[in-house]
Amino acid sequence: MKPVDHYIFSSNELFLHHDNTLPSSVPEVFLPSLRVHFPFTLPGASPEKGTEYRAAYLEEPLPLDKGYWVPVRQIFGSEDPELSRYASGAARGLGLVNWRRMNRFCSRCGGEMSEHAEETALECSACGSLVYPRLSPAIIVLVHREGKILLARHAQRSTGVWACIAGYLEHGESLEECVFREVREETGLTVTNIRYTGSQSWPFPDQFMIAFHADWESGEIRVDPRELSEAAWFSPEGLPSIPPAGTVARRLIDEALSYGN
Ligand SMILES: [Zn+2]
Repeated sequence: MKPVDHYIFSSNELFLHHDNTLPSSVPEVFLPSLRVHFPFTLPGASPEKGTEYRAAYLEEPLPLDKGYWVPVRQIFGSEDPELSRYASGAARGLGLVNWRRMNRFCSRCGGEMSEHAEETALECSACGSLVYPRLSPAIIVLVHREGKILLARHAQRSTGVWACIAGYLEHGESLEECVFREVREETGLTVTNIRYTGSQSWPFPDQFMIAFHADWESGEIRVDPRELSEAAWFSPEGLPSIPPAGTVARRLIDEALSYGN
C-alpha cells in the first residue's frame, strides 16, 4: 500500500502530529466535523516517491492530543524545514478546499456539484455544468522614490502593520495597467518603470499575488480613505512594523533593502 499524506485544514490552519508529520488517515475523532475530503496531486512531486495526497476540511478545529493546528501563514513564513516542507502542499490543498467549499451548488441551476471522474473539476449532477478551480489574480507593488519606499496601512485591517499597495486585476486590464491604476486610486501618485519580480499562491481564499517594483513619477500622497488609513515614504533605516516573512509584501521590502534602493 502506498503511503498517504493527509493535509487536514480547519479555518486557515493545518493539522500536524507533534513530531511534525502529516496523518496517514483522517483520525476518527475528526469524522463528525469532516466536510470535504479528496485526493490531489502536488506540483513538482515525483511520482516515484509514491506518496499519495489527500486534503480534508473540518468545520471545527477539534482538539486531538496526538497533534496541533498550525496557521498556514506561519508555514509559508517558516525557516524551519520541518514546517516549510509543507508550504506547497498547504497552498494547493487549502486553495482546493476553499474552491470546493464555495462551489457546493451549481451557479447555473442550483443542482448539487460532485467530483469529476478524471479532471480537477466539479460537475453539476443536474445540468452537467463544469467548474474548474479559480484563482483571483491580484497585483502587489512596492513604489520607490529617491531611496525611500511607499508603505500604507489598510483601512480594513486594524493592525499597525504597514504594507504595500495591492488590488485585484480587473477584466480587460493588463497587469501593468492594474499596478498603475491601483497606485493612483489609493494614493493619488503616478508610477513608471513597472517591473515584475515574482508571484505567490495565497489561498485566503483564492488569491494569486503578482509582485512588482515601480518608480514614483509624479504627485503627492493623497489616500483614498475607503482603502487606506495612511500612506507614507520610509527610508530603509526607519521602517515601521512590516508584514512577516512568507508574505509577498515582505519579500518586496527585503528586495528593496538588499539593492540598497
Ligand atoms: Zn447545474
